[in-house]
Amino acid sequence: MANNNSFKNGGVKTKSISSSSSSYSSGYKSKPSVTSGGRRSSTGSSGNSAGALHKDTPGVSGRVRVAVRLRPRNTEEQSTDADFADCVEVQPELKRLKLRRNNWDSDTFEFDEVLTEFASQKRVYEVVAKPVVESVLDGYNGTVMAYGQTGTGKTYTLGRLGDEDTSARGIMVRAMEDILAEISPETDSISVSYLQLYMETIQDLLDPTNDNLSIMEDPKSGDISLPGATLIEVRDQPSFVELLRLGEAHRFAANTKLNTESSRSHAILMVHVKKCVKERDGENGGKAHMSRTMKPPVVRKGKLIVVDLAGSERIDKSGSEGHTLEEAKSINLSLSALGKCINALAENSSHVPVRDSKLTRLLRDSFGGTARTSLVITIGPSPRHRGETSSTIMFGQRAMKVENMLKIKEEFDYKSLARKLDVQLESLIAEHEREQKAYQDEVQKIRLDAKKQMSDAEKSYKDAFEKERLKYQRESMESIKKLEVQLAANQEKQGDKRVKVGFKDEGVRGSAELIEAKKLLQNEILLRKAAEEEISNLRNQVVQWKRSETTGNAEISKLQKMLEDEVHHREKLEEEISMLQNQLLQLSFDADETRKQLEIGHGVDMTGEMGSLVSPVRQQQMAYSGEQKGSVAKLFEQVGLQKILSLLEAEDPDVRIHAVKVIANLAAEATNQEKIVEAGGLTSLLSLLTTSEDENIHRVAAGAIANLAMNETNQELIMSQGGISLLAMTAENADDPQTLRMVAGAIANLCGNDKLQLMLRAEGGIKALLGMVRCRHPDVLAQVARGIANFAKCESRASTQGIKTGKSLLIEDGALPWIVKNANNEASPIRRHVELALCHMAQHEVNAKDMISGGALWELVKISRDCSREDIRILARRTLSSSPTFQLELKRLRLNTG
Ligand code: ADP
Ligand code: MG
Repeated sequence: MANNNSFKNGGVKTKSISSSSSSYSSGYKSKPSVTSGGRRSSTGSSGNSAGALHKDTPGVSGRVRVAVRLRPRNTEEQSTDADFADCVEVQPELKRLKLRRNNWDSDTFEFDEVLTEFASQKRVYEVVAKPVVESVLDGYNGTVMAYGQTGTGKTYTLGRLGDEDTSARGIMVRAMEDILAEISPETDSISVSYLQLYMETIQDLLDPTNDNLSIMEDPKSGDISLPGATLIEVRDQPSFVELLRLGEAHRFAANTKLNTESSRSHAILMVHVKKCVKERDGENGGKAHMSRTMKPPVVRKGKLIVVDLAGSERIDKSGSEGHTLEEAKSINLSLSALGKCINALAENSSHVPVRDSKLTRLLRDSFGGTARTSLVITIGPSPRHRGETSSTIMFGQRAMKVENMLKIKEEFDYKSLARKLDVQLESLIAEHEREQKAYQDEVQKIRLDAKKQMSDAEKSYKDAFEKERLKYQRESMESIKKLEVQLAANQEKQGDKRVKVGFKDEGVRGSAELIEAKKLLQNEILLRKAAEEEISNLRNQVVQWKRSETTGNAEISKLQKMLEDEVHHREKLEEEISMLQNQLLQLSFDADETRKQLEIGHGVDMTGEMGSLVSPVRQQQMAYSGEQKGSVAKLFEQVGLQKILSLLEAEDPDVRIHAVKVIANLAAEATNQEKIVEAGGLTSLLSLLTTSEDENIHRVAAGAIANLAMNETNQELIMSQGGISLLAMTAENADDPQTLRMVAGAIANLCGNDKLQLMLRAEGGIKALLGMVRCRHPDVLAQVARGIANFAKCESRASTQGIKTGKSLLIEDGALPWIVKNANNEASPIRRHVELALCHMAQHEVNAKDMISGGALWELVKISRDCSREDIRILARRTLSSSPTFQLELKRLRLNTG
């Protein structure tokens, strides 16, 4: 640290005094102005802050805030230094500190805060850490660091747990308390890592077996992460304090083992805060077409790093602590690299050597640059350590000149919005279908009822009419008969009388007969009238029935009208659905746009979020609805397949992802598949699985391969190009369930090819399928189950034809436990395939023993009894009864398969 002195003797001291003190208290708003040499730490000039990476990122500028804390004299100092005055004098109200040079001269330094030996832990938290915690909650990265000689109170300031005395709690505990108070457990999350950095090795204090963690840097966003570090979600204060205690215990154990003191290592607490932002009205105004539910939730991610640095005293280069020179260098490497970076940043140097140490690499996204940073430097009062105290103060002075460019880390949670929309859409479709079915049933019922009523009425009318007609026919026949008989009798009588009686009598009798006949005639006339009345009555009835028939018809036509209305309604709903789909598309488009803008404007990598906006299958469905389909096809025509394929190797990852999406869309249509394969598209897609590291590309490419793998010729091609190993590798590295689903779907298709069985298995296809069950997403499991069922079917066929002998390769590869476990899976696509797989496997005696010991027999019995699908039930029953081994075992268990 040769330049320490040059700073001390240079303009630094005077600078800090003469610069405007009023601006300091306002924290990040300003930086100290520079009087000597015209060095200015302006953020706009090239290659300045830690962020060579972030130099053109728009944001809020600020400065590293530095407080100095003086420790009270300890017992030893009280006795041995009793005669000496303290070497420092604090003037908290002026935010100044005087460091005595000798009895008559002192240097004065100005800080953002000067904390006396009486400063409470609460106040220290409030001035040093609280502003950083607040900005972490607002979505910035932030760092709080303590720097100073061993024994001056760094750990006291940061790490005290305050078990016995809550007022003694340090910054870590208080920061977590504030964070917990500000987040809502349903939507937000906090997770914590706790690390130790010693001799350029990072150890995990939450899991001591993790003793050499590596640092990863996102090349796009510059975000730093430690993929191997234990990350524990914190829900309440007690569990966090327990974590700190555990970390401390591990730190102690590790240091004992390494024979080091904790003062030589850096302790680093990392707190990741993910916070959902409540909807802000008036924003998103340009997207008024989006309904309220369309607004994706905004998530802010902030990272708080609290660093308890190793003691700043220089250790003896000769290695007096029992270290070799190399070790001694390495022990201090991170701390001196931090100093160098701060110097470079403070001096606006074009090169900031962040890569020189693990500590500076780890702090790259959290110190200076784009984060809010607070440094507390701790000093003791003893004149014996004046040299160390002075160098600590100079360190703080230089850090005050480091400029921050704050960058908010905010992103839209498109994934959850898309999920929500999907769910809405699906339930709308289902609801619509239910309503339609109920309505059709109702109409059908009414129609049948009406028909039945009509035919009943018609029939009873016919019956009654017929009865009446017969009755009157009979009656009139009878009357006519009677009349005829009477007429005949009369004629006979008249003939007789003419012979027997004289002319006189004849006239009298004749008139009597006539009267009688008249009576009869009148009677007849009455009867006839009555009959006519009856007939007209019946006619009326007929008219009435006819009328009711017309009303029945009117009802039917009314129902028909309602049906038409319903159809119309359904069309409208369908329109709405397609509108929703369009909006989804629009959203994904907007997302792409936003991302592009963000990438241009902020340098934020959001590819991950956008790419998985919708599942590839849905993307394909959408892509093929309406316009999109047209545009893809047009693109296909205009640009030409060869050109699109060549874009798969484009430099720009964006172009690549778009190209692979286009190919995937094309591959969804059978007519394009041959062309794609002919043009070498399959080979390109397969090679993307190895050449690209972007999971979005993997997912879309796997989806396209799955589509191509539906065709037998392509299946052979895929296999011959090492497709199984590529897909297996992709499956191993993928986390996104949609990627896994696509890969599993592709393998499942290949599993259904009789000719490829052995090769598929030899190249690890079955193992890959089984590996994917680690992701418990039902869609993935359904594809795995389908693959297994396909494989079992082919195998069973081969066994029946005598091509295959020996045990099922599925059993050999250890699939049976999963199969048995999922025979009762509540998702029917998984269960059905597993049931089929079991039936296929059970058809061959060679498998019987393994199946019995693996518990599959019991599942088969259950299938044969309870399966809701009759064909599978019968298959299972038949399989069971035709296997002697199964029969024997069932007899032994006294089970009756029925
Ligand atoms: P460091 O971590 O810098 O090596 P520690 O935090 O371990 O120092 O402090 C050393 C000793 O000084 C501890 O016993 C601690 O309790 C005490 N100490 C430090 N700062 C203060 C303070 N502000 N008030 C009272 N005691 C303090
Ligand atoms: Mg300490």
